[in-house]
Amino acid sequence: MSRIVMKFGGTSVADLDRIRNVAARVKKETDAGNQVAVFVSAMAGTTDQLVKWVEEISPMHDAREYDTVVSAGEQITSGLLAIALQDMGVPARSWLGWQIPFKTNQLHSAARIEEIGTDELIRRMEDGIVCVVAGFQGISDDNRITTLGRGGSDTSAVALAAAVNADRCDIYTDVEGVYTTDPRIVPQAQKLDKITYEEMLEMASLGAKVLQTRSVAMAMNHGVRVQVLSSFTDKPGTLVVDEDEIVEKQVVSGIAYAKNEAQVTLVGVINKPGIASDVFTLLADGNINVDMIIQNETEDGRKTDLTFTVTENDLEKAEKILNDADNVEFSSLMTDSNVVKISVIGVGMRSHAGVAATMFKTLADKGINIQVISTSEIKISVLIEAEYTELAVRALHTAYGLDGE
Ligand code: ADP
Ligand code: ASP
Ligand code: MG
Repeated sequence: MSRIVMKFGGTSVADLDRIRNVAARVKKETDAGNQVAVFVSAMAGTTDQLVKWVEEISPMHDAREYDTVVSAGEQITSGLLAIALQDMGVPARSWLGWQIPFKTNQLHSAARIEEIGTDELIRRMEDGIVCVVAGFQGISDDNRITTLGRGGSDTSAVALAAAVNADRCDIYTDVEGVYTTDPRIVPQAQKLDKITYEEMLEMASLGAKVLQTRSVAMAMNHGVRVQVLSSFTDKPGTLVVDEDEIVEKQVVSGIAYAKNEAQVTLVGVINKPGIASDVFTLLADGNINVDMIIQNETEDGRKTDLTFTVTENDLEKAEKILNDADNVEFSSLMTDSNVVKISVIGVGMRSHAGVAATMFKTLADKGINIQVISTSEIKISVLIEAEYTELAVRALHTAYGLDGE
């Protein structure tokens, strides 16, 4: 007998037939004698609609009320799944985040889980009851509903799997696992049998939304065995594992793209010690994450252009902070949100040279200009014009020998 946490994403619970399909999958696990907790997302499209309503009613809304509204979709699917299970003769009940409770900090819309109450859930699972839990939700110290950031049901599931010492955490979605790149834009993308936590963490944070980044970090820190698989087929999915479980390491395992990037250039900044510190301290104080950075001096060395990227959502705020700053002098501020960050990822890069050269040559052959570059031990990212996203991803996929049939 195993203790299993299952999570079903929005497309897997998009209508009543699909919810019945989910119930049937859950029943298979209980029939096999396993203890089961199930997390559900909202029906596909629901959370987007809720976010839209909040933004329409007031762009400057109260973040606490945002969470009250956008967490609502998961309440509906958790109740419906519990009913579908009961209808199949499987004892089940639903819980909302606050009823467990999933205690979080007060960072509304991106809250972090601090503690999970597990006693009742464990007792109920041991009694043979399927615990259906609304994903994405928590409750803060001041008794307000919080949400964990878009895609946060993955994190709810992994966090519970860690807290109740589950044998497996199965993340069911609309593709058959983690692929070498987004299968929706590269039909030749191949499903990976295994991927390391580290690579998955990079892939997720660089744009592959198949798992929320935080869920991967949590799985890595707690050694949770995560499997990504389809709720529509019976094929084995992708296991996220430690590096030593992978025998044949690929130089490049995957390619990711992130469209929500924006480039900012401060032109003609006075070139003196402390200037980069001033700029990035201001942005950090404004809670803005800066990603890629380049700096170019003018010929006489007296001025410099400072280029960096932020997420598209932070662009307006970053512009305002810099324009209002009286300790940073520059001649103009240019922005470009029509950009995409393309990244190649692989633990094999540590021991192989030439990965960057292949990337730059492949893009050059397609006439694609690179605007900014950044690297780490296991990834190389470039910023290019957004219109070349698919062309670049496909060309790189071929260049690194990742194409399947
Ligand atoms: P869910 O609603 O089940 O949480 P998501 O939409 O959040 O599903 O994540 C699944 C989607 O992630 C897929 O439909 C796919 O388009 C996208 N995706 C992006 N990169 C990858 C990748 N490397 N492997 C698999 N899916 C990917
Ligand atoms: N429903 C939420 C979202 O769309 C959480 C999730 O699906 O994981 O972001
Ligand atoms: Mg998701």
